Parts: sequence; structure tokens; C-alpha cells
Amino acid sequence: MAHLVLAGAGHAHLMTLLAIPGLLARGHGVTCVSPGERHFYSGMGPGLLGGLYDPDDISFPVARMVAERGGRFVRGAAVRIDAAARRLVLHDGSSLSYDVLSLNTGSRVPLGGLAQLPPDVWSVKPIERLVEARSRLEELARKRGRVAVAVIGGGPAGLEIAGNAWAAVHRAGGIPRVTLAAKGRLLGRFAPRLRELAVRSFARRGIALAEGARLLDLAPGRARFANGRELWFDAAFLALGVEPSPLARDSGLPLGPGGGLLVDAHLRCPDHPEIFGGGDCIDFGPRPLDKVGVYAVRQNPVLAANFAAVLDGRPPTRFDPGSDDYLLLFNLGDGTAIFRKRGVVLAGSLAMRLKDAIDRRFMRGFGGGN
Ligand SMILES: Cc1cc2nc3c(=O)[nH]c(=O)nc-3n(C[C@H](O)[C@H](O)[C@H](O)COP(=O)(O)OP(=O)(O)OC[C@H]3O[C@@H](n4cnc5c(N)ncnc54)[C@H](O)[C@@H]3O)c2cc1C
Repeated sequence: MAHLVLAGAGHAHLMTLLAIPGLLARGHGVTCVSPGERHFYSGMGPGLLGGLYDPDDISFPVARMVAERGGRFVRGAAVRIDAAARRLVLHDGSSLSYDVLSLNTGSRVPLGGLAQLPPDVWSVKPIERLVEARSRLEELARKRGRVAVAVIGGGPAGLEIAGNAWAAVHRAGGIPRVTLAAKGRLLGRFAPRLRELAVRSFARRGIALAEGARLLDLAPGRARFANGRELWFDAAFLALGVEPSPLARDSGLPLGPGGGLLVDAHLRCPDHPEIFGGGDCIDFGPRPLDKVGVYAVRQNPVLAANFAAVLDGRPPTRFDPGSDDYLLLFNLGDGTAIFRKRGVVLAGSLAMRLKDAIDRRFMRGFGGGN
């Protein structure tokens, strides 16, 4: 019997979890290692913060999904891969032997050199921490009325978190005072029309924008920026981009330019063909891919097919990432979203309804949500 070990039950492994019975029927074993019994879908994370969704709406019961299909679920974190011995080492020192291993351990927000976040400061990942952030914003709104929120980072995550932090305070009856601080320009790597729509939405709600503000340091209740500006806050969010999970690096595996596990067109490590990977923790050798869930989701069928192929001794298939003009939908937290596809950029409630419908369908399709 060959043993497939899944390190991380992220977005790229969901189809494999559903396919466990087929692998078992062929005589293989499947073990999935994940720190949480549920995996949270990032696309709906800002909506969770804003009060649109509850945790169960936006998460997959991965422990149950594995166990119900006859696989073995291990609650824990993978800390190292001993590729020579084909063992995955976990946080508690235990280890699992594998014939085929796949990494989908995602990414994390760099903390700007901080060892630990001050109180009432959250990074936008892990998404599950936004549950606690929402409760705290609601509590502050009830206790103080006026709540100053700083969001640091001017990419899509910063945009969505700022709009939805505003919504969380507003819904709880408080007066939100939200400021988004961006190192460069808000949504600087996108077409100017996206920024225009975001700025307009912010202006309508009094969300302040501080551009050209590079974070220097964070202390309880205060952020300092390289341009001399200071921001005082009751709660803050760090949305400073992401870096791949350190698992491949800490294991001495080949890395790509982004610091993720280097994989080839079959999503496998060139030096260790029994190691695969998907999602934010990899660098796709053939061409760079944005760190978006879209690609992790597209990798599902190829990973699921390739595990079965390699376990059965058949050749793997190639991953075609498809167009990078993927549909973008940013939840602004006021019942509207920004839509971008094929050069069309617009904002409104219809775009938010479309986002909600697509996200809920995705959740149902992979056995999650309510
Ligand atoms: C606020 C926000 C909103 C976003 N919205 C969108 C969007 O609308 N559309 C989009 O395409 N992208 C979006 N993204 C980007 C998206 O989050 C990522 O590209 C996506 O999460 C990548 O999926 P993943 O499965 O690789 O990683 P993750 O979602 O990070 O999942 C990794 C999984 O691995 C587990 N794990 C971590 N470390 C270990 C370990 N050591 N051992 C075992 N398991 C581990 C984690 O618990 C988690 O379950 C958003 C990002 C953020 C921060």
C-alpha cells in the first residue's frame, strides 16, 4: 500500500479530500495534517469581518471531510520534511512516512520584523483570526462608540479589510474612524480605474487614505511611518502582502524566486518527484503566478489526478494555469464590490451579489459552508 500525505488542507487539496474513497479503493492510504479542523476560505474572510458571514459559512470541515471518507486526519503543523527518509515531521516531534507528499500550507503575512503583534492588532491571515477581530471591533463600538481602526497595506486585502472593519463598527452601532495606510498608492499595481472606485467608496464613508506611508514600527495603539506620520488606533490590521509558508525553506528543498517550493509543470518538486505542492506555498517554475486563491483552486484537479497517477505508477499530467486576466471581485464592505474582467471595471451592488453567489457556490462545491 502506498501512502499519500497531505501537509495542509488548503484550497488546492480540497478536491483530493473529496477523492479519498477512490484512492482507498485502489489500496492506497491517505493522511491529512492540518492545524485546524476547519479550513477558512480567504475570499469570504473580509465579509466575515464585516458581519456578512459567520465562521461556518466560510469554512470547510476538513477533519470531518477526511474522516468520513476513510482517511486519517492528524491535527498538527508540519515543521520539516526529511526528503531523504521520506518523512514529514510535525510540531510535536512525531513524524509520518510517505510515498507521495503534497504541500498546501499557504502563506503568511510578514510582520515587518515584529516578533509578536501588539494587543488589538491582527494580520489578515490566518483568516480564522478575523472572527476574534470582529468581536473585538463590536465590543469597542459598544464600549467607546468611536473606534479608530488603522489598516496597513494598500493591496486588495487592505482595501477589503478597511471597508469591512468600517462595516463591523458601523453595524455594532459605533462610529468608525478608519484609516488605510499604503506604502505606495492604493491598488498601485492595478488599472487606475480600480483605485478611483475604491477611493470614491472610501470618501463616501469617511475612510481616510494615507499613501506613501511605509510602516516603521508598531506599538500598542500606535503605528509610525517612514514619512514621519503617526497613527493612533484602537485596533489595527496588517495587510503587508504575503510570503510562502516556511516549510520548504526550513526543509532545504529547492525554492523558487518567491521563496516557495519550486515545482515544475506537473506541480512537483524537480529534485524530489514524490513531492508535490499547490497554492501560495509554491513557486510555479514555468511562470510566476499571483498569490491568489484562483490558482490554488485551478490546481485542484491536476493535483488530485497526479496523486492517483503517481501512486498507481502512471505519468502525471501538466498544470495549465490559464489566463491571468482572472475575474477580480473586491468586497468593499458597504454592500458593493469592485468587478474587473477583460478590461471592464465597475462597482456596485450587483457585483457584490455576483461575488456572494460565486463564493457560496464554491463553498458548496467542495463540501463547505452552510
Ligand atoms: C483578506 C484576503 C482576501 C483574499 N481574497 C481573495 C479572493 O477573493 N480571491 C482570491 O483568489 N484570492 C484571495 N486572497 C488570496 C488567497 O488568500 C490565497 O491565495 C489563498 O488563500 C491561497 O490558498 P492556499 O490554500 O495556498 O493557502 P491558505 O488559504 O493559507 O491555506 C493553507 C492551509 O494550510 C494550513 N497550514 C498552514 N501551515 C501549516 C503547516 N505547517 N502544517 C499543516 N498545515 C498548515 C492552514 O491552516 C490552512 O488551512 C485573499 C487573501 C486575503 C489575505
